[in-house]
Amino acid sequence: MGAPRAPDQPSIAIIMPPVIFPAPDHDHERCTSTAIAHAEAQCAARAQRLTPMRRQVLEVLLSSHRPLGAYEIIDRLQQKTRPAPITIYRALGFLCDNGLVHRIESRNAFVACVHNHGSGDLVIFLICERCGAVGEAPGGAAAEALKASSRAAGFSPRSPLVEIAGICAHCRDR
Ligand SMILES: [Zn+2]
Ligand SMILES: [Zn+2]
Ligand SMILES: [Zn+2]
Repeated sequence: MGAPRAPDQPSIAIIMPPVIFPAPDHDHERCTSTAIAHAEAQCAARAQRLTPMRRQVLEVLLSSHRPLGAYEIIDRLQQKTRPAPITIYRALGFLCDNGLVHRIESRNAFVACVHNHGSGDLVIFLICERCGAVGEAPGGAAAEALKASSRAAGFSPRSPLVEIAGICAHCRDR
């Protein structure tokens, strides 16, 4: 049963798989189509447009669970004429602002978000040093502790992001 869903919540949110590192043999097609449907619902709910360029950039990022730099995104876009980096950065800016993509500061790269979390939520990125996959773990109690210590220092945390490098479960078991 659970609590009733708020009417403005896209129903897609409840079918998001709570998997942090999808198994190498997971149904990635489903993963991608769910994320695109979520992005469309999110943009529609906010009266924003998922323009063809924004959509293509998101699709490129969704083609793997690894972060990509802006130039790698340009290389993978199936376009006759290479778009200018500024075009890609604009699309990435839109996707980041809307919580559909996150920037991984330490890699200067971007990763598609397949979780439906609030923009102010603390996100913990688990970065696998072996396969390069990036998992997103919920902030939980750590989020509250970090926010509390930021505020104790008179600091207003905007978008708290934590990056942890290590080895993912799939690589460890190999
Ligand atoms: Zn996938
Ligand atoms: Zn996210
Ligand atoms: Zn790994």
